Amino acid sequence: MHDLLALQALDTEADQLRHRMANLPERIEVDAAKRAEDEAAESLATLDEQRHELGRQQKRFDDEISSITSHVEEVEATLYGGTVRAPKELTDLQSELNSLKRHRRDVEDQQLDVMEQLEPVDAERAKLLDVASKAAEQREAATARLDAASEVINSDLDSLAARRAELAEPLDDALLTSYDQLRTRFGGVAIAQLSGGRCSGCHLSLPAVDLDTIKRAPADQQVSCPECGRLLAR
Ligand SMILES: [Zn+2]
Repeated sequence: MHDLLALQALDTEADQLRHRMANLPERIEVDAAKRAEDEAAESLATLDEQRHELGRQQKRFDDEISSITSHVEEVEATLYGGTVRAPKELTDLQSELNSLKRHRRDVEDQQLDVMEQLEPVDAERAKLLDVASKAAEQREAATARLDAASEVINSDLDSLAARRAELAEPLDDALLTSYDQLRTRFGGVAIAQLSGGRCSGCHLSLPAVDLDTIKRAPADQQVSCPECGRLLAR
């Protein structure tokens, strides 16, 4: 029973190490950095869509302006080429030229408007890229620290496992099986120490009649706490 109690001590220590491993602050840091990266990536995707749409509009205005410009050049060539002399025709050409130039200015205004809309999108995009790259740095640094901390705990767990194997080797298989079942049932602590008439597992004082029965049981007999059911080391 005292060997089992020693085994329990090792198992409890391993449970604590595994709990520490699962709750390492570095893991929380890694997760937080990952979340920040994901959020930035999501916002960047939305901005990229907006940017793409504005870029499409810009391209459309560019094309329209160059088409108007070549039309302007054609009309100017005709107007100043000297082949047209009739005043009515010249007036018509001049007014067509004026109207083309007016139209071009309108399109240029629209293009300017798109460029103005692009500015804050690009500024926000630069900010988000910065956030994403800082989060990535944080994640990498926290991951390195997490790996280092995990390595220490894993090596402690390995040495505990080796000591446990040594300790469990001479123990009875049936005893180990019921110990394992009790550990599952009680969330870790299968065997408790009986001291001063109290069970260290459930912290209850045992009734005098039970204490008496336990006291009179042969030393090699397994006894359990009548209150919680854990094995008792006397
Ligand atoms: Zn108990």
